[in-house]
Amino acid sequence: MMADLGVIPLQSGIGNFFGSCPECGACIVRNIGLVHFGCCDKHKVGWVIGYNLFSGALIEPPEMQRDTNALISGYRKIHPVYSPIHVAGSA
Ligand SMILES: [Zn+2]
Repeated sequence: MMADLGVIPLQSGIGNFFGSCPECGACIVRNIGLVHFGCCDKHKVGWVIGYNLFSGALIEPPEMQRDTNALISGYRKIHPVYSPIHVAGSA
């Protein structure tokens, strides 16, 4: 069973700074080591958000990282969508 520690459900759509699932707007942040991924469990897609951005990743136990790796390794890698308010140069 997956632990919920470190899983950050973000507001979908307009408030999402880290990208969203193009299908539904979801973004669940998960970590493997210090690499952060955005995920949508419903559509089984994921994308890389960045590296060493969230300190919570440092306290995640190895078994949680293995669970995360097992879960998202089967996800299709995509380019997320971003809110227009978070895209530089957009009005
Ligand atoms: Zn989705």
